[in-house]
Amino acid sequence: MSAIELQGMSKIWGETTAVNDVSFSIDQGTFAVLLGPSGCGKSTSLRMISGLEEISKGSLFIGGEDATIASPADRNLSMVFQNYALFPHLNVEENILFGLKVRNTPKQLQKERLKKVAEQVGLEQLLDRKPAQLSGGQRQRVALARAIIAENPICLMDEPLSNLDAKLRHIMRVEIRALQQRLGMTVIYVTHDQAEAMSMADKVILMCDGKVEQEGTPEELYNKPATTFAAAFIGTPPMNLIDPVACGLDKKISQNQQDNFLIGIRPEDIVLSNENGLKAELISADYLGADTVVTAKIQDQEILVRTPGKVTITKPTSTRLQWPVKSVHVFDKSTGKRNDNIEVLPI
Ligand code: ADP
Ligand code: MG
Repeated sequence: MSAIELQGMSKIWGETTAVNDVSFSIDQGTFAVLLGPSGCGKSTSLRMISGLEEISKGSLFIGGEDATIASPADRNLSMVFQNYALFPHLNVEENILFGLKVRNTPKQLQKERLKKVAEQVGLEQLLDRKPAQLSGGQRQRVALARAIIAENPICLMDEPLSNLDAKLRHIMRVEIRALQQRLGMTVIYVTHDQAEAMSMADKVILMCDGKVEQEGTPEELYNKPATTFAAAFIGTPPMNLIDPVACGLDKKISQNQQDNFLIGIRPEDIVLSNENGLKAELISADYLGADTVVTAKIQDQEILVRTPGKVTITKPTSTRLQWPVKSVHVFDKSTGKRNDNIEVLPI
């Protein structure tokens, strides 16, 4: 039985279909990430699961029971918002305990849970402070503590780290993931950041224009993107999508002589060579420390190459590009869908 199951769920506001016939299920104890660009319907989906937003069409099951029209309180979920939504006039302890107080949880139980949760998120020393006296990361921990103290089996998080700087975001990613595993929670975590999704998720649900584009483990999305959208969304820099006809490669790349497909190659799968491969010109280089992202061109087609160490390019330079056949992904040009039936030739 799934912890959460969406069956054909939609959200329609007048002319806008924000979420369009979305179905997926999440097993208990899974860290699931709803990933996609801004405006694709992630928050709306999460709000329908939480009960803050009515479901226009379709059904929602929580723990196997129909929760489509259940009140938010009856869904036994916790939620962490992007802006934390802490009460400014309450101190950390009061903020964390707010929900338990509202539900008249016995005082002794409140005390025990507070101690445990404060320890889990490292807030023991800060219980007397007001939110204004905390750093962004500490506020984030209060919001987390408030969500987990309820001991609900499911926690929904909407871009909870977007207000933090890059370093703290990284630390909090690791902390949230560790906490989720320790407590065995089922989490649905919304983000537009593919790196966050790749590093945290057991399962990624990639959305585009209100629909599910692809779902799977981070490895599945990276190794076998189902569409050009998924190919370009996952990975930094994104996968190169090359039109073989536009850069005169069609006969070199496939025997099929078809002109209706794109080939995808990840920048890290391309090797620069002086001897073998496709003739290209190196245009510019972006040094990142461990490696360099080089922009190459074959005719008008730009191709990014991730290459180890430091590469400097002061003027356009001739080179050759090579890649193993097994690294080539093929997509139909018109539909953008993956097509594993077209065989590509070695270059
Ligand atoms: P995301 O979280 O992926 O950035 P949202 O779920 O917030 O996207 O929004 C999806 C779409 O629904 C957007 O086009 C947004 O403008 C629209 N939308 C969100 N909330 C409302 C609302 N209350 N009324 C009308 N349209 C809305
Ligand atoms: Mg959102």
